[in-house]
This record gives sequence, C-alpha cells and structure tokens, in this order.
Amino acid sequence: MDGRRLVDGPDDLDRLDPVVVEVACPSCGVVRSTDVVHLARSIPSTFAAALDRSIDPERLGRLVDRLPGLSLEYFDGVAHLRGSTGLTVYLAPVTCVACGSGSDIVVSWGEFQPGRWQLTLEGVVCHEAS
Ligand SMILES: [Zn+2]
Repeated sequence: MDGRRLVDGPDDLDRLDPVVVEVACPSCGVVRSTDVVHLARSIPSTFAAALDRSIDPERLGRLVDRLPGLSLEYFDGVAHLRGSTGLTVYLAPVTCVACGSGSDIVVSWGEFQPGRWQLTLEGVVCHEAS
C-alpha cells in the first residue's frame, strides 16, 4: 500500500489546486503522473458505485486483500470501502501507455475531522485477469 497523504486541510475538493503524483504501473513499472484531485472529482465513490451496482462486493473484498489499509463495510446492506484513515474510497481506472495493462488508482477522500479534509493515495492495483 502507498499511504501518501496528499491533501490535509480546511478546504473542499472543488477549490483545491491540482495535486500531481507519480505512480508506477503495477505490471511494468513505468511511472505516470496523475492529478489525483482531478481524479477524485471525476469518479464516483465505491459507495456510489456499489449503490448503482456498477461494482460488486466480491471485487471490493479482493481489493481489501490486496491493499490491507482498506476495509470493507456495509451501510444499509450496501458494501463499500473505507480507506486507511476511515474515509470513502474512490477507484480510478487507468491504462498504462507502455504495456497497455489496466489498473486502478485507489484514493480515499473526505472530511477527517470537522472542517479538516484529507486525500490519501492508498495504492495502485492491477485489474484482475477475467
Ligand atoms: Zn505498464
């Protein structure tokens, strides 16, 4: 797991400057630069994805196995993920420009304490072979 704390302060995502991080492709190791603030703003949370059934609990469970900082929780019977600091998890699918393999950049984002927001890079995982 990665665990880099990328944002920590009294703000909301819409007003944050870009935060560019370099993450390595889990398959070939080629590094790409990604603006994680843009990323977190443009994708649904795992809770939203679970609500509209675009992600299944089994896949979330496998992500917990691969990134031990994550935890699987249920709200009203809907499975979703919390990150290493207890915040909501977002999965951003990316495709490596070098080897073409797919992976998910995993970040958590939310209000950590009243008025204090955090964005954490949890890690990068390969898409499973299907
Ligand atoms: Zn690659």
